[in-house]
Amino acid sequence: MAFLEGITCVCDNGLTLEDYKPIVGDEIVSSIRRKAATLQGKSIVHVNSTYQSGGVAEMIISLVPLLNDVGIRTHWKILNGPSDFFTITKNFHNALQGEPVRFSDEEKHLYVRTNEDFSAHLTIDHDCVIIHDPQPLPLIRFYQKTQPWIWRCHVDLSKPDMELLDFLKDDILKYDWMVVSHEQYRRENLPIEQKICRPAIDPLSEKNRELSADTIAELLAEYEIPTDKPLITQISRFDKWKDPEGVIDVFRLVREEVNCRLILCGSMAPDDPEGWMIYGRVEEKARDLIESGDVILITVENHLLVNALQRVSTVILQKSLREGFGLTVTEALWKGRPVIASRIGGIPLQIQDGETGFLLDPTDTEGFAERILRILKNPALGDELGRKGKEYVRVHFLITRLLTDYLDMLNATFVPSDQIACT
Ligand code: UDP
Repeated sequence: MAFLEGITCVCDNGLTLEDYKPIVGDEIVSSIRRKAATLQGKSIVHVNSTYQSGGVAEMIISLVPLLNDVGIRTHWKILNGPSDFFTITKNFHNALQGEPVRFSDEEKHLYVRTNEDFSAHLTIDHDCVIIHDPQPLPLIRFYQKTQPWIWRCHVDLSKPDMELLDFLKDDILKYDWMVVSHEQYRRENLPIEQKICRPAIDPLSEKNRELSADTIAELLAEYEIPTDKPLITQISRFDKWKDPEGVIDVFRLVREEVNCRLILCGSMAPDDPEGWMIYGRVEEKARDLIESGDVILITVENHLLVNALQRVSTVILQKSLREGFGLTVTEALWKGRPVIASRIGGIPLQIQDGETGFLLDPTDTEGFAERILRILKNPALGDELGRKGKEYVRVHFLITRLLTDYLDMLNATFVPSDQIACT
């Protein structure tokens, strides 16, 4: 786990590359060591804006110890700023994902100034700088750039608000590379080298490691989650793009036919000021179901609980309206559970419809309900989809593959070449 010490995020999960051998095999581990050989003693720094809650932090937490283990001195810094800053950057996030939002000059000014203030506390003397997402993007303005800077954008950029992108463009173009999660997020109007790097999960983290039946039972008892009927679960921040209100509509249809329970589990991220507002709307919409115990809303941040919920659920939902990648999908597939999800963003990279789960148009409420009912009535189908999904994740979306991508990227950064294997 990670904790914050000033602006430095300290993460030591005690794991080394060797620990992953039983899962990914000798060949992958040896190949990683070979790729790291040319990078010994290099130093890099990751900068993002939260050390918890959300896919970006999850990945960095696991990546930092592994990069250090293979000989690259890796630091992780967290941009801090006033709450107004995070409101603005949350709106940036929404606008980059296609929502029409206008920004005043004052807001843009606060965005840049927060980065400038932060730069006074952040010494950068590393061999490479990796900036995650729009929050710390303008940091690059405030340094004498003597090393490669990479902008790792985790947002779905397929239909961005062009006015905002235009505002961010000057900063983006100062970077050496921009890295996105999907081919569709490349922006042709940005004259910068753009690479693809798929996200990944750590199979040994608290979120994903094997849990005993006793541990699962204890966690469910602690959070008062009964298992007397099938559980349908969506693990996601309370965010409009995750469509928790749409999930309630789906559940009402399912509940008419099969007695089951819905869990919506979404911890509140410190850099996400909208969370409680959306939570309130869901609570209002599902009041009767919450009172009858058929819907349970959870807002605690507990990785073991997420792990347990993903393992005991009969069906996992991800009914997002936009989704950069959707690590919750990867995590659920890794637990061997069937996932029913929207055919958007990075989700189709992970689920083959009818093979490793089901994909639907995000507005297809009846379709979601029908697929859930299909699995509730035929649990063997769910087990089969989940089994195939787990193997797909093992091959494509584990942290060792992400580490490999980073090593390829760093090798290409320090020794530029046209043959970069980061896809
Ligand atoms: N998450 C969590 N607790 C919650 C909700 C989400 O730990 O209550 C985690 C989830 O397990 C996943 C990450 O937050 O690791 C969300 O990543 P994803 O890519 O699905 O969406 P994002 O929040 O980055 O848009």
